Amino acid sequence: ANGVTAVLEWLRECAREFDERLDELNDLDRVLGDGDHGTNMRRGFAAAESLQLSENARAFEALRQVGMALVSNVGGASGPLFGTFLLRAGANWPSPPSTAGVAIAVRQGLNGVVARGKADAGDKTMVDALIPAAESLEASARNGEDLQTALAKAADAAEAGRDATAGMVAKRGRAHLRADESVGVLDPGAVSMSIILRTAAQHIS
Ligand code: ADP
Ligand code: MG
Ligand code: MG
Repeated sequence: ANGVTAVLEWLRECAREFDERLDELNDLDRVLGDGDHGTNMRRGFAAAESLQLSENARAFEALRQVGMALVSNVGGASGPLFGTFLLRAGANWPSPPSTAGVAIAVRQGLNGVVARGKADAGDKTMVDALIPAAESLEASARNGEDLQTALAKAADAAEAGRDATAGMVAKRGRAHLRADESVGVLDPGAVSMSIILRTAAQHIS
């Protein structure tokens, strides 16, 4: 699939995943935070389900609308951060889609998240899933890999980064208040970021 249709399918798949995984994400956030991460993601991505776009809309418009919904309808730390990711990635989204272009878009999204949230690698946040994905996409672009291959590898990298958060001590957000209890538990935001990248690999090519 191509262009705005694929991006819309991607965002709608995210909405379905966040609906299905509500309890899992809330449970993770109950250990580390206030137990609302799944609820937050579901509320933000619900915008994708009701999205109305004109026939000649660009992919950016879909990403912008869902990004705005996350920023404005979801309180807390994660709404503005995931919203910034979609807005910044969307503003740089390539048309037609390409590995090099998506690598730039994801890197810009990461830069937006870090500018806003100031998380470093290893702080046990969504950034620990996003950094390996951005680096993997850049390596794929250098190696001339097609977009489908590149996104599948980026999703694998994000999931490895997600899994590594279990061993980390939380340094950001509410979770850092329970830094000791945080060891052994996946960071819910890193789980959500890997959902976003895995669904991208399933729908963007
Ligand atoms: P809140 O903590 O406001 O209830 P959520 O529970 O929805 O928000 O989101 C928590 C997630 O947000 C964490 O798991 C973490 O991945 C992410 N997060 C929190 N603070 C930051 C930050 N400064 N930078 C990047 N990600 C962050
Ligand atoms: Mg929370
Ligand atoms: Mg909260």
